[in-house]
Amino acid sequence: MPDASHAPSSRELDVAIVGGGLGGLYAIHRLRGMGLKVRAYEAGSGVGGTWFWNRYPGARCDVESLEYSYSFSDELQQEWKWPERYGNQPEILQYINHVADRFDLRRDVQLDTRIVSALFDQKTGLWMLRTDKGEEVRARYCVMAAGNLSTPRVPDFKGIHDFKGKWYHSGLWPHEGVDFTGLRVGVVGTGSSGVQMIPLIARQAEHLTVFQRTANFSLPARNGPMEPERESRHKADYPARRRAAYDTPFAIGGYPKPTKSALEATEEERNAAYEAKWQEGGSISYLYAYTDLLVNKQANDTASEFVRNKIRGMVKDPVTAELLAPKDHPIGTKRLCLDTGYYETYNRANVTLVDVRSDPIAEITPTGLRTGKKEFELDAIVFATGFDAMTGALREIDIRTSDGAVLADKWAGGPLTYLGLMVAGFPNMFVVTGPGSPGVKTQMIASIEQHVDWIAGCLDHLHKQQLDRIEPAEQAESDWVGHVNAVADSTLYPLANSWYVGANIPGKPRVFMPYVGGFDRYKRRCDEVASSGYEGFTLSRRGVAVA
Ligand code: NAP
Repeated sequence: MPDASHAPSSRELDVAIVGGGLGGLYAIHRLRGMGLKVRAYEAGSGVGGTWFWNRYPGARCDVESLEYSYSFSDELQQEWKWPERYGNQPEILQYINHVADRFDLRRDVQLDTRIVSALFDQKTGLWMLRTDKGEEVRARYCVMAAGNLSTPRVPDFKGIHDFKGKWYHSGLWPHEGVDFTGLRVGVVGTGSSGVQMIPLIARQAEHLTVFQRTANFSLPARNGPMEPERESRHKADYPARRRAAYDTPFAIGGYPKPTKSALEATEEERNAAYEAKWQEGGSISYLYAYTDLLVNKQANDTASEFVRNKIRGMVKDPVTAELLAPKDHPIGTKRLCLDTGYYETYNRANVTLVDVRSDPIAEITPTGLRTGKKEFELDAIVFATGFDAMTGALREIDIRTSDGAVLADKWAGGPLTYLGLMVAGFPNMFVVTGPGSPGVKTQMIASIEQHVDWIAGCLDHLHKQQLDRIEPAEQAESDWVGHVNAVADSTLYPLANSWYVGANIPGKPRVFMPYVGGFDRYKRRCDEVASSGYEGFTLSRRGVAVA
């Protein structure tokens, strides 16, 4: 295993990769396979990114395991056995470690190393990255695979550092685990992470108080052991299933394409369709019941109300049920959660729901938490309060060029990219599944593979044309950003205060960051751009433009 303490103080590479998660690892494999000298820098003490850090109770993927996996090696996808319908965190991390060993990726990963700055020298055309250990890395190209949900955020609550108990964030969970037995526990946050951990913490804690600011829609995951027949059916046809998935907006296959509007069906038909999806489990399938659930408010209301009624049916106390029934955003416009026993948890005698929308958290006290009106005695607090999504990881790196461009300044009003892949003014820097791409709205590994393959194709093209520099034209970038926004505005997504618009971070500019036109459309556009000779990009050699 590479040892950071023996790292040389400077290194020359063809491609420096930031991040050793699913994106960084595939980039090593793919780019090294082209004969390039690559190395990935990973802040964690192990590979796996998201799945290395998010070890909270109940952490599990909400995309089915046969889909949420790499497709680049048929042997790998045939041989790997997923024990359950949805992979849990330890299984997914085990899978990632298996991939790292199987493809001998570890020798090009430097663990426990954070990239703190990246400077592009306009004269030499090289990136110079600096690590937190003082190492300098020079590379022609730089691939940012630093993650979209990798910068955990604990709100700046007054008094937090004087809390006498222990507090945790879902995305920085202790490796040894946490035993809540006999403790009075508070969980702040009811997004995907909160919804997954709450049922499990409730079973352990003496008392659990959930502090909810916004009620979230959640559907039953209906997890269970992998059915052998289902697995063999899927595997018999794996490559074709992957291709079919790429032809959908979410890069997830297996669901019939919707053919009609929810408003064309009768109420009875609609409820039968929603009930079937509810019983089947899974989130994408539900949102795919009709063509217009994410674009037409009236259509969406029918799907939202169906779930609200389910919540009212599951939660015995009517006041708690109403608090849990989301009314401030259309279903699917915030990340739709998947759970196992979430709503039923509020029927337990040892669980209390507190509405911190009407009575916000005022401070953390030495012995608990105080809202404007009430004080809560707690032994432990869990913040499931999310991340500085999509831009946080790059904001933490001081990225600039020798002619004075600073990425943080350029993105001060929101991220600007061409195709979510590159940034004008920052040559030879690629971003994997970043803002302006559909990554976070898709089966993420499909998006990672699509991006890394596109980058590989681009580097191959540059090499064959004896070029060494690529960057987007300002116009192409602003047209793309305009398109990303126009597409978002044609949907219901902007109606929600979600991390897609940075709403969870006070002061973050409200800009819709992911591309929601669908993976299928997006992939076609990226392929067209490449086959047209990289339309919208300037390609050059040592600064002399050729296209
Ligand atoms: P999140 O969706 O951003 O949820 C954060 C929660 O904390 C929200 O309920 C938020 O309320 C609340 N919160 C934030 N600041 C607060 C404050 N000052 N006072 C009270 N409440 C506050 O974060 P997450 O649950 O970690 O999930 C992030 C994303 O990671 C997900 O959307 C998903 O993409 C991914 N994820 C996936 C899985 C999975 O695959 N199953 C699991 C976990 C996470 P507001 O809504 O009012 O802001």
